Amino acid sequence: MFKVIERFISIDGEGPTSGELAAFIRFEGCNLRCTWCDTKYSWDGSCSYEDQDAEGIYQYIKDSGARNVTLTGGEPLLQKDMFHLLDLLSLDSALHIHIETNGAIDIGKYKVRYQGGNIRYIVDYKLPASGMERTMKKRNFEHVDQDDVIKFVIASEGDLQETWRIVNKHELTRKCRVFLSPVAESFEPKKIVEFMVSRKWHDVRLQVQVHKVIWPKDMRGV
Ligand code: SF4
Repeated sequence: MFKVIERFISIDGEGPTSGELAAFIRFEGCNLRCTWCDTKYSWDGSCSYEDQDAEGIYQYIKDSGARNVTLTGGEPLLQKDMFHLLDLLSLDSALHIHIETNGAIDIGKYKVRYQGGNIRYIVDYKLPASGMERTMKKRNFEHVDQDDVIKFVIASEGDLQETWRIVNKHELTRKCRVFLSPVAESFEPKKIVEFMVSRKWHDVRLQVQVHKVIWPKDMRGV
């Protein structure tokens, strides 16, 4: 069984299919405590959630007509039955699955099990301003491929400088897609653009949270 806080259909606000409709499944629980977290309600079971099984989640997705599916949280890979759900979703080649994971979980065993399939990973890298950088699993830099994303979540000038250093040190743009995502109301997107221009940084992408442009920033279910 899975602890599901919410499920809804909306646009993908910040993934590789940004602007396209997707079915979102948000799971309860997170092993991190980022300073700027915008989903604190997902942390520790203090909010309401429903117990749902893998078959029920799959049926919801199919009934919605969605092709894109985003599994998010919290941290979705903490759900103990996740292999069961992913086994089911991986059999349906009509679906494009994105797992939004927080960078503190090693994705290696998932990459091996679903190699070449319809499951992609959006792996956060939490920078110093998050207070969580020490938990980042840098082994994930070796697991990702060109269909996956490493997303740097930037809340300060120092975070931006650190992003530049890490991307270059690990040659990440040769391995996967690299997104630069400013923390809403903490860091202006234009500063990232200016930095990209000044460094002639052509192989990374600015990724703003589109849903926060359209709806109030703390609105849920969108
Ligand atoms: S990993 Fe995500 S859900 Fe967990 S504390 Fe950080 S921002 Fe919040």
